[in-house]
Amino acid sequence: MQQIEQRQTSNVKQQTTNFLIVGQGLAGGVLAWELHQKGFSLAVVDEGLPNTSSKIAAGMFNPVNTKRFTVSSNAESSIKEALAVYKAIEKALQIDIIHHQNIYNVFGNNKEVNDYSAKLDHPFFKQYTNESPAPEKNIIQPFGAFEVGLSGWVDVKKMLDAMRNFIATKHILLSEFFDYTLLKQEEENWVYKNITAENVVFCEGFKGNNNPFFAELNIIPCKGDVLEFEAPQLEPTRVVKKGIYIVPLGNGKFKCGSTYKWENNDATPLLSDKEELTQKIAELINVPFTVTTHYAAIRPTTKTRETIIAKHPTLPNMYALNGLGTKGVINGVKCVRQLIETLDK
Ligand SMILES: Cc1cc2nc3c(=O)[nH]c(=O)nc-3n(C[C@H](O)[C@H](O)[C@H](O)COP(=O)(O)OP(=O)(O)OC[C@H]3O[C@@H](n4cnc5c(N)ncnc54)[C@H](O)[C@@H]3O)c2cc1C
Repeated sequence: MQQIEQRQTSNVKQQTTNFLIVGQGLAGGVLAWELHQKGFSLAVVDEGLPNTSSKIAAGMFNPVNTKRFTVSSNAESSIKEALAVYKAIEKALQIDIIHHQNIYNVFGNNKEVNDYSAKLDHPFFKQYTNESPAPEKNIIQPFGAFEVGLSGWVDVKKMLDAMRNFIATKHILLSEFFDYTLLKQEEENWVYKNITAENVVFCEGFKGNNNPFFAELNIIPCKGDVLEFEAPQLEPTRVVKKGIYIVPLGNGKFKCGSTYKWENNDATPLLSDKEELTQKIAELINVPFTVTTHYAAIRPTTKTRETIIAKHPTLPNMYALNGLGTKGVINGVKCVRQLIETLDK
């Protein structure tokens, strides 16, 4: 009797999967979803930290670069492609995560007004922007504003939380730190603890810089801060943007971001960053507000601003997906699809 019990506790069941994914942020989460859709079996390892880049992000999608009033040639198709994926996730997991909300872009000065006016012949600006939007109340806007459509935000935290439960139910979820020293190659497969996987994909965000298998990802960490605040008298119908964005969450609550602290990989929220954002809110709205929460996290960016979809040069069936930068909501879907195309080859 004793012998049998011993054998049962020490003999942890060995499990085989098509993919082992390290990291369940936007990159690993969307990858897990798309691979699941294709019928692959998965094991996902994620340490489950509360304030990661994906979990605190506002999750906005916005086709227009409002600093330079440019729009990339594939903005429309990229947004539509990404939204189709999030829509499918919404439906399958029975959650509401997509918030279609136009962006009310407040001009900072006359130059911006002129720069925008010069773009009005551009087909995209003609179709998706409005030069004379209904004004938002309680917004400081001496130079006026224009409005952008095809925009809004995805509740990424809600999506990742629901997806984590889904993975735990349908696949294998290890809610723990991934120890690189335990990953062993066995012929063409990879063995991690009791999991044998045909492929490994690393999606660790800025922590990818610690990955000994991909020593040259060169992720540039970019710290960002987000505040949640309450302003009962503020009732915008759109996201308000002027350097910072103010996203209405309902019931007089708002999310505001963000700062950009390049080369900074310390996610500790600092009072000075909170003050910087608080000051910017005070310059944009003319009603009282109370800051309730301050979050900070690190974005994984790259020098060229291009995302990283890497196949290991020598080791078999090993990949990295990273560098989603400041636009993870759109870049995540694009990158995942490109990686899956690479796998098919
Ligand atoms: C303040 C802020 C605001 C933002 N706003 C927007 C926005 O409005 N729109 C937009 O599109 N993008 C936005 N972004 C950018 C977007 O959040 C990022 O592009 C995206 O989150 C990156 O996703 P990721 O999966 O690569 O990384 P992460 O979100 O960092 O996910 C990596 C995951 O891997 C886990 N992990 C890492 N190493 C290990 C290990 N060894 N073991 C176990 N687990 C591990 C981490 O804990 C984490 O869960 C914002 C980012 C910030 C910080």
